[in-house]
Amino acid sequence: MGGTVVIGTGISATAYLASLSHRLEVSKILGQQDLWHRLSPDHAMGQPAHLLTGNVVPPPQNSNLPGENAAFMLAGAFARFLDGQLTNYGGVRIADSVVDRITRQAKNGYIVKYIVHGQRGEVTCDRVVIATGPGPSRPLMVEDSGKLGVDVSNASKLIVKGVDFLEEGWQYPDGGHCQGKHVAVYGGSATAAWVVEMAYLRQMVVASWFTRPGDGADKWNGEKRFAQAFPPGGRNIEVGKRSSGVRRVRQLVGVTEQSGRLVLEFQDEGGRCTEAVDLLVYALGAGHTEHAGVSAMLDESIKKALVPYYDRNFAISTAPAILAVGTSDGSLMIVGSAMSSTAGFNFGDQVVPGYKEDLMVKLANYSSISKSLPPAAAPPEGIALVMASIEALNHTLPATGTEFASYRGKDGPGMHATKAAWTINFNTSNRTQIAAYLTAACGLPPATVNLAAALIVRVRSQANYVRGLTDKQVQALIRLAVASAAATGDDLRDRQYSQDDFINRWIDRLFSHAGTISLLEKDAIHVPPALARM
Ligand SMILES: Cc1cc2nc3c(=O)[nH]c(=O)nc-3n(C[C@H](O)[C@H](O)[C@H](O)COP(=O)(O)OP(=O)(O)OC[C@H]3O[C@@H](n4cnc5c(N)ncnc54)[C@H](O)[C@@H]3O)c2cc1C
Repeated sequence: MGGTVVIGTGISATAYLASLSHRLEVSKILGQQDLWHRLSPDHAMGQPAHLLTGNVVPPPQNSNLPGENAAFMLAGAFARFLDGQLTNYGGVRIADSVVDRITRQAKNGYIVKYIVHGQRGEVTCDRVVIATGPGPSRPLMVEDSGKLGVDVSNASKLIVKGVDFLEEGWQYPDGGHCQGKHVAVYGGSATAAWVVEMAYLRQMVVASWFTRPGDGADKWNGEKRFAQAFPPGGRNIEVGKRSSGVRRVRQLVGVTEQSGRLVLEFQDEGGRCTEAVDLLVYALGAGHTEHAGVSAMLDESIKKALVPYYDRNFAISTAPAILAVGTSDGSLMIVGSAMSSTAGFNFGDQVVPGYKEDLMVKLANYSSISKSLPPAAAPPEGIALVMASIEALNHTLPATGTEFASYRGKDGPGMHATKAAWTINFNTSNRTQIAAYLTAACGLPPATVNLAAALIVRVRSQANYVRGLTDKQVQALIRLAVASAAATGDDLRDRQYSQDDFINRWIDRLFSHAGTISLLEKDAIHVPPALARM
C-alpha cells in the first residue's frame, strides 16, 4: 500500500494537511483521541478563537471578533470545531491505535507498526506525517536536570498525572468520592493552575499547590516560580486568588503511603516538613526526549537522515526558527507542537545563512516564534505556534481557491487555483502572509506593504495587546503605513541599513510619539501629518 500515513488526530495533523498546497493521498490516520476530546468541555482555554485557528482552518461560526474583549474559547467548542476536520483529507482512521515503530522499506517508503486493543498491526506507505503532540508527560521522579528525584512507583494509585485528572471521565481511585478529599498539586504551569481549578470544581480541598525551587537569587521567589501559571490575559486570576494561601515553593524529597494516605516530605526555604494528603496530582509539562516519544519510534537509519526545516524565507522573523524536523525529501515529517521539544532531537548548533549577506546565524528555537504573536498566544506547545509554524513551513497564503485548473506534477496529477478569495487572520499570520494579502487584496505598493506588515507584527506582540488586535486597530496601522509611505515619497529604504533594520528604526521612532498609541486606542480614521512624517 502507498499513500501517506498520518500519526496523530489533533490540531497539528489537521493544520499540516490543510496547509499543503497539494493534496496528499492519505491512506491511514493512526492515533487515539487528541487532547481536546479528552478534557472537560466547559473549561475556558487560554485564548480566544482567532488565536486558535490561524488561516488554514476557518474559525468556528459565531466566534468573537478579534481583540482585547474576545472571550476565551471553551475546550468543548474547540473539540467540536476539530470534529470532522481530518476526514476532509480521506484515509481510514484506526481509532485507539498507538504507533511504536517506524522503519524503512527495502526500497522506498516506510513500515509503520502499531498496537490497537492489544492486537498488532502494520501498514506500508510512501510518506509519514508525525503529529503526535507535545510528547509524554514528564515523570514525577525525574527533575529538570534529568536527575532522578523521588521514586513514587510504590504509591502509584494516589499519584495522578495532571492531564489524566483533567479528563472529563476521570474517577477517584477505587471508586472513592472527590468531595472533601485533600489534594496536593505539583507544578508551576498553566496546566497546574487548571488542575487546581478542577480540584475546586470537584469540591476537593487544595491543601498545597507547590512547585520546585529555581536557580540563583530568585530560587524561592513564589511570584517568579509560579509566573507561568498565570499567563497574560487574566485566564487564571480567580484560581490564583483562591489558592494564594496554599501556594509554596518547595522541593518534594519523599513520598510514602500510610493508611491509605500519602505523606509528602518537603525541603523548603525554612527546612524540612511533612504533609499528609489523600491525592497528589502532578503537572510538570511534557516533552519528547532522546529516549521517549517520537525518537523512540524511529529506527536508527531514519533518525540519521533527519534534518531541521527552518524559516528559510524569514517569513516569521530574521532569526530563522526551526519549524519542523523531517527527511530531506519530505517523505517523513514531524510537525506541530512536538517541535516545542524539537521532537527530542538537537539541532541547536546548526548554523544557516542569515538575512544579511555574509551573515551566518544559529537556528532559533521553535518557541521564539511566540515573540511575533500576541502575548496570550505564547505557550510553546500551544496552538497559535502550531498554526504559525506549519503555515510558514508550507508557505501557506491566506487565500482560498475559488477556480481551479488541473496539472501533472512530480507527485502525479493535481489541481491548482487560478482564482482565489483572500481572507486573513492578522493576529497569527507571518509578515510574508500579511504582505501577500495587502498586495493582492488591497493593491498597496511594496514599501507600504512592508511597513504595514512589520507594524502589525510589532504592535500585536506588545504587552498591551494580550489577545491581539481588533480589525479597526489593524486598519489604523495600515492607514499609518500608507500615510508614512506617501509622506516619505514611498522611498523607505535607506541605503545605510538593510530594509529590516530601516523599518525597525522607523517603528521605534513612531512609537516614541504618543500619537501612535492614541491612533490605535481611539480607532482614529485620520493619521496626523506629524505622525506620517516620522
Ligand atoms: C492541560 C493542557 C491544557 C492546554 N491548554 C492549551 C490552551 O489553552 N491553548 C493552547 O494553545 N494550547 C494548550 N495546550 C497545549 C496543547 O499542546 C495544544 O492545545 C494542542 O492540543 C496540541 O495539538 P496536537 O495536535 O499537537 O497534540 P494533541 O492534541 O496532544 O494530539 C496528539 C495526537 O497524537 C496522537 N499520538 C501521540 N502519540 C502517539 C503514538 N505513539 N501513536 C499514535 N498516535 C499518537 C494522540 O493520540 C493524538 O491523537 C494545553 C495542553 C495541556 C496538556
